Amino acid sequence: MKRTGTVALALAACILVATAAMAAEKKVRWNMAMTWNSTLTPFVNAPTKVAKMVSDMTDGNFVIKVEGAEKHKAPLEILDMVKGGQYQMGHSASYYWKGKDAVTAIFTTMPFGMNNDEQNAWLYYGGGLELMQERYSQFGLYAFPGGNTGVQMGGWFRKEIKSLDDLKGLKMRIPGIAGEVFAKLGVNVTNIAPGELYTSLDRGTIDALEWVGPGMDIKMGFHKIAPYYYAGWHEPATDLQFLINKKEFDKLPPSYQAALRTAIQAASADMHYENFAMSADAWASIKTEYPNIKVMTFPDPVLAAMKQATDEVLDGYAAQDPFFKKVLDSQRAYMKKAREWTKMSEQYYLEQSAKVEQ
Ligand code: CA
Repeated sequence: MKRTGTVALALAACILVATAAMAAEKKVRWNMAMTWNSTLTPFVNAPTKVAKMVSDMTDGNFVIKVEGAEKHKAPLEILDMVKGGQYQMGHSASYYWKGKDAVTAIFTTMPFGMNNDEQNAWLYYGGGLELMQERYSQFGLYAFPGGNTGVQMGGWFRKEIKSLDDLKGLKMRIPGIAGEVFAKLGVNVTNIAPGELYTSLDRGTIDALEWVGPGMDIKMGFHKIAPYYYAGWHEPATDLQFLINKKEFDKLPPSYQAALRTAIQAASADMHYENFAMSADAWASIKTEYPNIKVMTFPDPVLAAMKQATDEVLDGYAAQDPFFKKVLDSQRAYMKKAREWTKMSEQYYLEQSAKVEQ
């Protein structure tokens, strides 16, 4: 009996090894659509690095072809294209389909919301990621954080914003919840695909726009038309998202799923570092190389009106949709707790070190 048992075990082990080897050799070819044109660094570096890492980790057996908006021509349709199965994966920002489902917007960021550290802590260790999967499952998708820009700048304006009156009638590109906030304050808000921003500003389709931060903004040339560059309030930790067709992901061998998830987290963290480095470099030379850029902060009464309008917009959605309320409550509670630690650590440290700077 004992001998038979040993043989059976050995056989089972052989079958397992053979199955694992077959799984490891399984050829998988995926396509990933991005909201961005293929040249838009550092955003495109997150999906590009995911594809490279996944291929390396599977000995070249799991290949993901990354496609930019210049090819598929549907930069703001990533959700539908991955849901419909034309692409197995996408890289975009959740707030671009706020019109289909408002709650997806606050998985990207929200005005006066959490900063990068707080938001990542909420996502990975505060229940955020579970809420995100729960909501995206209705589209037959998985969603994962896809790179965080950190605090974004408040945008480029042709004229100084001295009071709320200066916002009225302004035509501005600003997506997400912040767009609705500005609409409440009298701004004519539009969302325009990233590849068309400069032309829209140049042609006067819009008077103002927000994009990301100095690392990505300055090379777009917005300052030539709209030199007033405002500090941020509206996107304190903008997370991009990887979307994956659930059926396709579930079909993958477990080792490929693990490779993909690991690559996504590593490449997303890396994009944050790279974006920070690009902005630090751009900021270091802004005064000497671009003396016409006027760095501004919004006046306090304008900020106060933005905050009030933000709460009204968020509470309005929460009143209509219990799941929106669940996510909003979770974010607000987490931020309230985490902000106390941010104040004691990052903020206090910055204040202290500023006192002794030469
Ligand atoms: Ca932005």
